[in-house]
Amino acid sequence: MSQPASPIGVFVTPVTPLQQNCTTVWCTATNKAAVIDPGGSVDAVLGEVARRGLTLDQIWITHGHLDHAGGAAEMQEKTGVQITGPQKADQFWIDRIVESGRMYGLPDARPFTPDRWLEDGDRVSLGETTWEVRHCPGHTPGHVIFFNRAARFAQVGDVLFKGSVGRTDFPMSDPPALIRAVVEKLWPLGEDVTFVPGHGPISTFGEERRTNPFVSDAALRSAPIQREPVGPA
Ligand SMILES: [Zn+2]
Repeated sequence: MSQPASPIGVFVTPVTPLQQNCTTVWCTATNKAAVIDPGGSVDAVLGEVARRGLTLDQIWITHGHLDHAGGAAEMQEKTGVQITGPQKADQFWIDRIVESGRMYGLPDARPFTPDRWLEDGDRVSLGETTWEVRHCPGHTPGHVIFFNRAARFAQVGDVLFKGSVGRTDFPMSDPPALIRAVVEKLWPLGEDVTFVPGHGPISTFGEERRTNPFVSDAALRSAPIQREPVGPA
């Protein structure tokens, strides 16, 4: 018995000293690819896209932090493809990419101008695949996630990690909004959904609902969140 072929492919390239999960997704019917969150190592990511016989079609951005978005301008210059996302409230962070780059020792990080801002409920097409957008503020005000319903796959940036959630100690962060986003925007997509977070290993929504100390069903029943997650930017 052969399994039906997946409509999408995925590979992850950790980039920047913050080891951000730059995620390349593609339509297996057309080999059209989107790079999600090119925070750096642009040539290495483009080289791997080419090595796999894929055609870069789009750049997607979950949020405006430099480790996710600091290489978007360079990738666009080198390929000519459009930049989609994040939601427009993250202009606040895009405007701070150069300053943050100096702070984090990433002097090549540059701001960019999205060709298309995203809103909750938007859809983006890649080849023959369709991806749903959810606006998940809290870590940053304009954070979005990308969900492929057919493949049961999501790229969630710094909203949710295996065993943790995004930091909410930044300017414009909103801790209660982050928890609401996880519970009201991610969980309804299904426990069987596999996700790539912005940093660290992959997991599933079901696994996090069972075990994540910040957002498991048991943790949310027993008490409000008492401590700040200490994690990557
Ligand atoms: Zn972030």
